[in-house]
Amino acid sequence: LSADAQAVVDEIEENDVDFLRLQFTDILGTVKNVAVPATQAEKAFTEGIYFDGSSIEGFVRIQESDMRLTPDPSTFAILPWRDGRSARLICDVVNTSTGEPFEGDPRTILKDAIDRANEMGYKVNAAPEPEFFLFEEDEDGRATTKTNDVGGYFDLAPKDLASDVRRDIIYGLEQMDFEIEASHHEVAEGQHEINFEYDDALTTADNVGTFRTVVRAIAAQHDLHATFMPKPIPKINGSGMHTHISLFTEDGENAFHDDDDEFNLSSTAHSFLQGILEHAPALAAVTNPTVNSYKRLVPGYEAPVYIAWSDRNRSALIRKPAARVPAASRIEARFPDPSCNPYLALAALIHAGLEGIENDLEAPDPVRENIYEFDEEKRKEYGIETLPSNLGEAIDALEEDEVVQNALGEHVYEKFVEAKRQEYDEYRIDVSQWELDQYLEKF
Ligand code: GLN
Ligand code: MG
Ligand code: MG
Ligand code: MG
Repeated sequence: LSADAQAVVDEIEENDVDFLRLQFTDILGTVKNVAVPATQAEKAFTEGIYFDGSSIEGFVRIQESDMRLTPDPSTFAILPWRDGRSARLICDVVNTSTGEPFEGDPRTILKDAIDRANEMGYKVNAAPEPEFFLFEEDEDGRATTKTNDVGGYFDLAPKDLASDVRRDIIYGLEQMDFEIEASHHEVAEGQHEINFEYDDALTTADNVGTFRTVVRAIAAQHDLHATFMPKPIPKINGSGMHTHISLFTEDGENAFHDDDDEFNLSSTAHSFLQGILEHAPALAAVTNPTVNSYKRLVPGYEAPVYIAWSDRNRSALIRKPAARVPAASRIEARFPDPSCNPYLALAALIHAGLEGIENDLEAPDPVRENIYEFDEEKRKEYGIETLPSNLGEAIDALEEDEVVQNALGEHVYEKFVEAKRQEYDEYRIDVSQWELDQYLEKF
C-alpha cells in the first residue's frame, strides 16, 4: 500500500467509517458511485473494485463491460450528512482488458489536457463559480419552481430566508475540506452562489461534482430542492458557472501576468484567451450541453451571447477580472453553466487555450461597451460573432471543430454527440406549452 493509501485506511479506522462510496463520473457529468463496506478499502487500493461499465451512460457496450475503479487517495472525504459513517473516494476508471486508463472516463480526458499543459511547462489553476436555485418541494416531495425567498443580489437576512440553508451548506462543504471564500444571494429570487478557493484543474473538477452533491443533499434536509439547471425560470437571470483560469510556470510564476500590459495580461494569456474565443461555438456544446443552456445565453441577463472579451463588461464571453496581486491575474470564461461535465468542460477550455498559445494567436482589443446594446451593424464593424443559439447548432459547431473533438478524444466525442443529438431531437419534436398557448385557439 502506498503511504497515501495507508493514511486513508488509518483514517477510516480512526473515524469508524462503515461505508465507502467509490465515485466516478459518466460523460454527462453525473456522479456515479459504487458503495463497498469500509473493510474493502485496502483491496480497493491494491486490486481495484470491478463494476459493469455497460450500464453507465457513454461508457462501453455489454461485450466489453468489465471496468475497474482505482481510488485516488488524495480525494478521501467523510460525508457530513451520514453521521460521519460514510466516506467517499474519487476514482479513476481502468479498462480491465488493457490495464490502461479508460478513454471514456472524463477524469482521464481532463488529465490528458493537464498533461499537455505540463509538457508546455504550465500548471493549470481553475476556479468555478457555480450558481444555483433553491426551490420549494410540493406535498409529494417533488421539485417546484417556487422560491422560498424574495431576496436579491447580496441581500441580507431576513429578506434572504435561505441564508440558514446556505450556512448549513457551507458547514457541509467545509467539513469536506472546501475553502469557502464567499457566499451571496444572487440576482434572481431564490438564486445563490457560493465561491470556493481555486485549485489545480483536476481538483477543481472533482470539487464541482462534490459541490453539487453537497448542495443538493443539504438543501434536501431543509425540504428544498437545489437545482443547477441553467435557466429554470424565463425572463430572470439563469445560473452560470463562470470559470476562472490561469497558467503557472514550473517555478510558481503566474504566466498570465504582465506588469507592462495595459490589462496586466501576458501575451501567453492573450493567446490563451483568443484560443477560447476562436473555438467558442464548439466549446459551447461541452460547456453548455443541455437544451436549457441556450435559454440562459440570451441578451439582458448577465450571460454572454457574443464572442468577445472585455476588461470590464459582463456581457462579454471572457472577462479579465481585476486582480489585486500578480498571482491573481486570470481570465474568466463566463459562458459555461453548471449543467456541464466539469472534467470535459475544463479539458476542452484548456486545449482550446493551449492551441491559442501554440499558434501564437493575438487577441483583439477588448470591448468595453455593453454588447447587448449593439445592433447587427455595430457587431459586424467590431467583427463580433455570436454563440450558437441552440444545442443543435452547438453540436454542428462541434462537428466542425477538430481541436475540441480531439480534446474529448474519439470515444467521448462519439458518445457525447450521439447522446446530445438525441436530446436535441427529442426536444425539437416536442410541442411546448408556449406553442399551445400561442396557437391552439388562434388557428
Ligand atoms: N447569473 C449570471 C449568469 O448567468 C451571472 C450573474 C453574476 O454572477 N453577476 O452568468
Ligand atoms: Mg461570482
Ligand atoms: Mg454570480
Ligand atoms: Mg463571475
